[in-house]
Amino acid sequence: MSILEQLRLLHAGWRDVLEVGIVSYAIYRVLLILHRTRAMQVLAGVIVLAAAYGVAYVLQLGMIVYLLTFVFSYGLIALLVVFAPELRAALAQIGRSPMSRIFAHMGEAEIADEVSDAVERLSRSGIGAIIAIEREVSLDEYIQSGSAMQAKVSADLLATIFTPYSPLHDGAVIIRGDMIVGAGCILPLSQASLSDRSLGTRHRAALGLSEETDALVLVVSEETSTITVASNSRLWRNVSAPDVRELVAARSGRGTQQNQQLQIGS
Ligand code: ATP
Ligand code: MG
Repeated sequence: MSILEQLRLLHAGWRDVLEVGIVSYAIYRVLLILHRTRAMQVLAGVIVLAAAYGVAYVLQLGMIVYLLTFVFSYGLIALLVVFAPELRAALAQIGRSPMSRIFAHMGEAEIADEVSDAVERLSRSGIGAIIAIEREVSLDEYIQSGSAMQAKVSADLLATIFTPYSPLHDGAVIIRGDMIVGAGCILPLSQASLSDRSLGTRHRAALGLSEETDALVLVVSEETSTITVASNSRLWRNVSAPDVRELVAARSGRGTQQNQQLQIGS
């Protein structure tokens, strides 16, 4: 093949550019969903196995290649089973139209009002509370640890749930969109070393969830009546109710924008 012909093969048409663009964006979205979830660790494991397969293939280590082929073919089914909730959430998200997102946005200010109102009331009464607000990563597995429900977010309902001795006051409330979808939920405890002794299991649970998912977690301390926010593996102490309002309203904003917002309360 002449160099000219080879160059013609390399020539990128608009279709190639479009395809590369779409595939890059899809990979970016998938990584965004995987980021900070346990799926990322599994992905690292799969990459190690793939590398081992490559090495075994090159060195012609027949038995290892055979065994790894076996692992990959059954492993794929195992992954589908293990990540069924994540896959369901991802597919549901793809199905959500931009229009429905716009409508969801419209109610966000009111939800932020209700949540910050609840947190302020609870803090004033010295009632402990923990509220996890779902963002991109599904919190389904944590909802299953408590009581699933479908109730419109309201300050009255949130305050009622956390009232001491109410059957659902123990554990976390989970909010998805404009609905309370779970109460009495058990969140994963962070193993990080916390210098402040006043930070007990409630604060550890908030930090733990923010390490494993991209959720925004609000904590009202029973001991100190202060409001703490956990997001992106970090805790912000002594956040004011107006700041909580802003954070909840901006929850669909991600990454740096969210971090800048969080600085308000630091
Ligand atoms: P506070 O400042 O309110 O005392 P704390 O960080 O010191 O909070 P604890 O005093 O241990 O934490 O709070 C215990 C409460 O935290 C429990 O009654 C329960 O409602 C909640 N909690 C503890 N662990 C979890 C968890 N894994 N997931 C959700 N909520 C939890
Ligand atoms: Mg305590």
